Amino acid sequence: MLYTSTRDKTKKISGASAIVSGISDEGGLFVPQSIPKLSGGDIKKLLEMDYCERAAYIMNLYLTEFSFEQLLACAKKAYLQFGEDAAPIVKIDKKLFMLELWHGPTLAFKDMALTVLPHLLSLSKQHLNIKDKTLILVATSGDTGKAALEGFKDVDDTKICVFYPSDGVSNMQKLQMITQEGKNVNVFGIKGNFDDCQNSVKQTFNDSKVIENLKSKGYSMSSANSINWGRLLPQIVYYISAYLDMLGEEQISEGEKINFCVPTGNFGNILAGYYAKQMGLPIDKLICASNSNNVLTDFFRKGEYNIKRPFFKTISPSMDILISSNLERLLFYLSEQDDKLTSERINALYSEGRYHITDEERGKAKQLFYANYSDEDDSIETIQDFFDEYSYPLDPHTGVAVSVYNKYKKDYEKSAKTVIISTASPYKFPQDVLFSITGDYCGDSFRSAKKLYKKTALDLPEKIMELKTKPQRFKQIISTDEVNETVLKFAD
Ligand SMILES: *Cc1c(COP(=O)(O)O)cnc(C)c1O
Repeated sequence: MLYTSTRDKTKKISGASAIVSGISDEGGLFVPQSIPKLSGGDIKKLLEMDYCERAAYIMNLYLTEFSFEQLLACAKKAYLQFGEDAAPIVKIDKKLFMLELWHGPTLAFKDMALTVLPHLLSLSKQHLNIKDKTLILVATSGDTGKAALEGFKDVDDTKICVFYPSDGVSNMQKLQMITQEGKNVNVFGIKGNFDDCQNSVKQTFNDSKVIENLKSKGYSMSSANSINWGRLLPQIVYYISAYLDMLGEEQISEGEKINFCVPTGNFGNILAGYYAKQMGLPIDKLICASNSNNVLTDFFRKGEYNIKRPFFKTISPSMDILISSNLERLLFYLSEQDDKLTSERINALYSEGRYHITDEERGKAKQLFYANYSDEDDSIETIQDFFDEYSYPLDPHTGVAVSVYNKYKKDYEKSAKTVIISTASPYKFPQDVLFSITGDYCGDSFRSAKKLYKKTALDLPEKIMELKTKPQRFKQIISTDEVNETVLKFAD
């Protein structure tokens, strides 16, 4: 299987190269030249497999240069640390299910991909006989940073540097990052929001002086952000695996269509669902749930992506994003793989702050996606009502998804069975979850976590409570124009 770029279709590279490069040199994102289809035979085989085997099998359809056994070894290193089931399905009622993706080391769904990525990367480097050391740069809205740090800590010949918006993440998220252990890690706050953070890291990535300077030090840069194909690919697995689990437990019949409702920021998670659907998984609608930063809701409704709008800091910080990078891949597909047009649109986004798609493209998107958003009041009320009804605590991101699902149900009476993608443990956001459920606001994150435990009886992870006393190693906050020099210094 070869990969090409959303902005230059003459590019043809292997999956291994796509993973090592992260982003194409003209700025485009790598996409597979064709999307493999799941046959009835595939489904039969997959039904019998455990999560690691499913992951290896599905990744192998896209990474044909590796063997099933090689990919299985990657999957095992990643998912055996999750406990019994890496991605359990919890039945809420006859038509509603939760896919809990936060049983990994950092308690957020980013672990589903970032525990695998380091292994895919070393396999790819081996395959391509690359001897350069790797410098991983990450811009994070909160959860990617910690998951990437855990994934890459003390990996040979690798350094990782994470940048987060200094006032844009939750207290727990910040503590998780600045207390990170490992010899090869570094973490910086950036003055600005996530978009500023992401833009400056992207610039560093494409800066030829930085690239040359690093090369002289024996390093090449790579990205652990969700634009990397090695992030998207492991995410396709849990959509398919969830379907198979439901089929295996006879919650659905063969071929029955279901919805997935996804709390969305950078459009990475839901895009993996799009790939699963294109592979032939019986998905009815992909429900794109946004918070008050509802640029995607407007995009799907009006056909215009417009970032000239206020930016809101919300209780679901990992979705406080105006530029959803992975949408570029969907644009490429909606335009029938028109690389010139995709390129023009992204350029227009950066020069004029907006672009349009055609009515025909909007029609196609509408077949695939339902989009809506939940403001802060809606989200808080949803978390409270959901706990009252089902005794199930939602983290604020998953709260946004449930709120949007409720809106979807009102708009479509005969909705299919729906799986909510649950993206984080409530204990990553204990103050806001406690407040939503009880109306009781407590200024201290750790006391909030304890109170939340008393109220909900959901296991309180040791990894959260130990943050209180763990040494804080990384306290530096820099401005966006200091990123280049910071990266170069770290490489020394
Ligand atoms: C990253 C994240 C999201 C958004 O996922 P995208 O792939 O960026 O759309 C939602 N919820 C949580 C908890 C996250 O960490």
